[in-house]
Amino acid sequence: MTVLLMAATAMVLALLFFWLSARSRRKTGIPAGEVFYQDLVGQPFAARDLRSLKLGISGKPDCLIRTPVELKKSKRPPARGEVYPNHMIQNLAYCALVEEQLRERVPYGLVIYAGQQVRRVEFTDSNRKWLMHTIAAVQAARLREQASRNHNQRGRCSGCGVLDKCDQALR
Ligand code: SF4
Repeated sequence: MTVLLMAATAMVLALLFFWLSARSRRKTGIPAGEVFYQDLVGQPFAARDLRSLKLGISGKPDCLIRTPVELKKSKRPPARGEVYPNHMIQNLAYCALVEEQLRERVPYGLVIYAGQQVRRVEFTDSNRKWLMHTIAAVQAARLREQASRNHNQRGRCSGCGVLDKCDQALR
């Protein structure tokens, strides 16, 4: 009897988790599919860096289901379904990395603002060209060991990963 009760409880819990997971996917717009990993605390999937020797870039999306998903804490997403340019170029780089590693065409990536505002970043030919141009510009700046800040937003600097090393940071 106890075993039957435990089995029934386990089945109910499994159904509940399945329903919650499906509801969460619908709410966030994350497509169904095999989850390669999620780079979130407490998640069972180990995240790993994706690297491209060909492009000279590397990165680690927050979540990878053949479609790179980037979660942004920003409470003020851009208007009209847009994506901030720095988030867009990051997501395009992840699309290129996933394509190279999985050898599958990636049509788009997702940027999710504040846990629910889902924005698509299309990996179109023109966005591919923009990515290649940006990578070349970054590599040229690296060689010159010099780059110019292209914004005047203190908030971007305060959340930047290289703030301590940057001589152009707005403080
Ligand atoms: S800290 Fe430097 S690299 Fe980071 S956003 Fe500001 S200017 Fe750009």
